[in-house]
Amino acid sequence: MPFADVLDQPRAVEALRRALVSGRVAHAYLVYGPDGAGKKALALAFAQALLCDRNAPGGDACGVCNGCLKVRKLAHPDLHVVLPLPSDADEDDVKARLARLADEPYAALSPSLRKKDDGAGKQAFHSTERMNEEVRRPMVYQPLEAKHKVAILVDVDVMRPEAANAFLKLLEEPSEGAVFILTTSRTDRVLPTILSRCQPLRLDALADDAVAAALVARAGVPAAEAAVLAPMAGGSMARALELAADPDVAAQRELVLRFFRYAFVRKPEQAAVLDDVAALSREGFKRFCDLALHFAHDLVRYRTLGPTAVLANADQRSAVEGFVGNLPHADLHGMVERLEEARSLVERNVSLSLVVRVLAVRLGEAMHYGPCAPVFVPLAA
Ligand SMILES: [Zn+2]
Repeated sequence: MPFADVLDQPRAVEALRRALVSGRVAHAYLVYGPDGAGKKALALAFAQALLCDRNAPGGDACGVCNGCLKVRKLAHPDLHVVLPLPSDADEDDVKARLARLADEPYAALSPSLRKKDDGAGKQAFHSTERMNEEVRRPMVYQPLEAKHKVAILVDVDVMRPEAANAFLKLLEEPSEGAVFILTTSRTDRVLPTILSRCQPLRLDALADDAVAAALVARAGVPAAEAAVLAPMAGGSMARALELAADPDVAAQRELVLRFFRYAFVRKPEQAAVLDDVAALSREGFKRFCDLALHFAHDLVRYRTLGPTAVLANADQRSAVEGFVGNLPHADLHGMVERLEEARSLVERNVSLSLVVRVLAVRLGEAMHYGPCAPVFVPLAA
């Protein structure tokens, strides 16, 4: 991908373009920033510009030459992409991960958090063996086709100490034309001797509207749905793609509405929703809370701004209007606090079923007896 396809990181892109145009390319860069900000995407865009046969006119890859096409397929002989791998990964795993990266540089490569919840997904790392074989050996030779030779090392914070020391030697005596692009979301776990030899490039969490636009353009998500999903991703494109591909999200948003309705009226015949929520995994419940918080924030928006409010849950507008109309005295901020509390409780070793039942009661209290409610309610009322 050329720089033009990199989402919402104008500062880092500009720094790299200037380096390309002026011909002052450093031999090592550290791209760092939060998960899902596009570190791998930026690294690949830079690699493509470095390996473009037309020398990246105007500081960006042309996108159509042979070199550009090979980089896009991760098949350029002067490009080495090294991913951290679990100890039991085989050649097919490596191929599958690289194919996924070539197909969508913004997708998460490691198993998602939800899989970790079931105990699957081993810790991935960079081994000394692979560091020698895939980085040291190829990077000491001259480039084969391009002016540069590029190694992208993903998540260098999980480099084993011996591997880091082997890599350090390369950084100290780089061969002609070699460019190393390292990525990490944890600079505190990278050897200071490595950090000090790299030009730093900081990426920020992506803006919601950039994520929403990219969901439409890159993943074919309908615009209304993208506008709902983007704020839930917290500035991570990888997370947004996961949410968009997850059929559970729509069902969980319906579950949130049912839960709010039950908390409001507490009709015994609707109590089954408590079991449905308590049946979620702990990760599932955290997401349920996130979705519920988005809905509660919409209630705040609508009560503050009225019909002109722009809602995150645009497709649930009539439900938002209904709640705000029926809950003139609700303590909406109290509702938000109780949801946040339930979300943090579940990270500790508290029974999920208990958390769900207490949350329903306390949400109901906040809905009915907010700070504006009268202290004394006559029996006749
Ligand atoms: Zn090109």
